[in-house]
Amino acid sequence: MTVIRGATTIKQDTKEEIQSAVKELLDQIVSCNHLKRDEILSIVFSSTSDIHSYYPAKAAREAGFEGSSLFSAMEPEIEGSLKLCIRVMLFVERNIKTVPVYLRGAKNLRKDITQRMNIALDGPSGSGKSTVAKQLAKDYDILYLDTGAMYRACALKVLHAAIDVEDESKICDLMRTLDLNIEYENGMQKTILDGEDVSEKIREPHVSMAASTVSKFPCVRKKMVEKQREIASKMSCVLDGRDIGTCVLPDAQFKFYLTASPEVRAKRRYDELTAKGFSVNFEQLKEEIILRDKQDSSREMSPLKQADDAVLIDSSDMTIDEVVALIKRKLQEKI
Ligand code: C5P
Repeated sequence: MTVIRGATTIKQDTKEEIQSAVKELLDQIVSCNHLKRDEILSIVFSSTSDIHSYYPAKAAREAGFEGSSLFSAMEPEIEGSLKLCIRVMLFVERNIKTVPVYLRGAKNLRKDITQRMNIALDGPSGSGKSTVAKQLAKDYDILYLDTGAMYRACALKVLHAAIDVEDESKICDLMRTLDLNIEYENGMQKTILDGEDVSEKIREPHVSMAASTVSKFPCVRKKMVEKQREIASKMSCVLDGRDIGTCVLPDAQFKFYLTASPEVRAKRRYDELTAKGFSVNFEQLKEEIILRDKQDSSREMSPLKQADDAVLIDSSDMTIDEVVALIKRKLQEKI
């Protein structure tokens, strides 16, 4: 069972204000938490004692949440507390990573979560970005968006359609029918392509090079960047990729560029893939990593590049824990 919290305020105590504030709040909770309305078991509202005009629960029913059991209560009058405020708790059966939603005047109640924190983590493959990003997301209880997975999913679609990965025109046509969704289960990103969970398939070694090739096409990048910005605009998150600090979120407060020698990166990829049961050749993997770096850094649109204001971290001789600790120190210095 998961409980999702939220709150909002109204300008004046009228039925219309309550209806519109409740609708906005619930719609946003549903969208930020990727919920389906029919999985919301119950919605419990409390409102401050200066709200008399309408039941928030009734407004919820009218906003289309009639399938959940709805309840409203009035809070005691507390001196100095936020006025005209409606708080909500949504109960959902499955376990999900929750995104609380605080709107309008209620943003002040939870400055810790309403002040969005975006961390851009760029670098070449095997630099440890994803492991570091996952750890940071866990420690700060924010979302991790693996943007590489999105390009891998595009590549998988191209491979499934048996289209040449260099055929820009056919790929652009195919991208018009792309149905790609990023979902989260217990904080883990799931990549859903055309309704199928392809989180494992996109990790297969042959998809890596194809992803690097198809990701150079503007029609692919534009679509992915749009999706990434949309996700990052809604919540605090750490994004790893190649162009997060330079293109996707040039205004991110925190930017890091993680790298390591090709030797070390190939070893990390080798260990990762063999642990997953893939049989790979170390020298071949190293060559492929060098080739992918070259292709990613030399493409015309948003090449792999350190943003001018990113902190450079060479993790060749560092453990993941050391990298995470260093990034956290840098974040603290800036907060
Ligand atoms: O990070 P990962 O190895 O999963 O990325 C696969 C490929 O996707 C990269 O080699 C790169 O070409 C592309 N990519 C990109 N921009 C990103 C993330 C990944 O071009 N933000």
